[in-house]
Amino acid sequence: MHSYSLLASAKINLYLEIIGARPDGYHNLIMVLQSIDLADQIDLRPSGTEAIYLHCNHPEVPQDESNLAYKAAALIAEKFPDAFAKYGGVNITIDKRIPVGAGLAGGSTNAAAVLVGLNLMWNLKLSQRQLQYLGSLLGSDVPFCIVGGTMLATGRGEYLTPLPAVDNFYVVLGKYRSLSVSTAWAYQTFRHKYLQANVSDDFAPENHKQRAYSEKMVYAIARNQERQIGQLLYNDLERVVLPQYPQVQRLKEEFQDLGCAGMMSGSGPTVFALTKSQQEAQQVLESVKIVIPDPDLDLWVAKFTSSSIRVASSVK
Ligand code: ATP
Repeated sequence: MHSYSLLASAKINLYLEIIGARPDGYHNLIMVLQSIDLADQIDLRPSGTEAIYLHCNHPEVPQDESNLAYKAAALIAEKFPDAFAKYGGVNITIDKRIPVGAGLAGGSTNAAAVLVGLNLMWNLKLSQRQLQYLGSLLGSDVPFCIVGGTMLATGRGEYLTPLPAVDNFYVVLGKYRSLSVSTAWAYQTFRHKYLQANVSDDFAPENHKQRAYSEKMVYAIARNQERQIGQLLYNDLERVVLPQYPQVQRLKEEFQDLGCAGMMSGSGPTVFALTKSQQEAQQVLESVKIVIPDPDLDLWVAKFTSSSIRVASSVK
């Protein structure tokens, strides 16, 4: 049996609109999701026992059954007991490079990598669609993380429509190391403030008056209109996260003062700015370091990518 080393990309939200609250506690969304080449490395090795083991080099990431990557392995073992009996357990090692609790789908992409990796390791021959279904049982962003690229995501985020790749962008990401935002808190606060009287099963975006610009964003992406893509970045969750975290608001404003389109990703607190070249991205990063000389602020440069999970190597 082979061991696999996989790279699992983070995502950013170019667009996130909350269409309505659902009775099941989730929300109907319209999102445009984009993979970036900031990635964790996930190593999968046969454990030689019946157990699943997990190790991660990041202190804030749980190393037990609550880790989403562990849950992915346990789900595959449960759904395919014959393969589990034949091949045995697995050692999962996560080299964390994606900041945690950052709105970049770090946990979801780790789970996606385990699903993709075990499909290969245990020779399950599951299709991408079947893997996406399994992913949807683990979390709303996991189906996207299986495929990656540029996608329109609706429902909870699990209904995916591929969009033309816009991989000509670079992105500068900024996150305060000591800050993390709970996704559940962000959505619950939004629901409480803006959606309380409007809980409905009905997913009909055309019925929502306050609907923003998803069509325009999709059009701009289809036409590769770089300037418009920057202008149409949108995230409803900024309405609850930015007032709570003024330093995140300031970071966004600094990006904008530098002439970049800046936006929070997902439930934050990561803020990103789009640039058209690596050199420009590096300049923006250096300028932000000067205007916000806070050692707690981590900054990265990454590139849009059209893939999410990649096999880096496999050995017998
Ligand atoms: P999303 O954008 O999907 O809402 P996020 O990027 O905001 O996610 P994560 O980095 O996935 O957040 O982490 C959220 C929480 O999930 C963390 O506080 C951590 O305790 C838990 N967690 C479980 N498994 C993992 C994992 N493999 N990697 C990172 N965090 C994990």
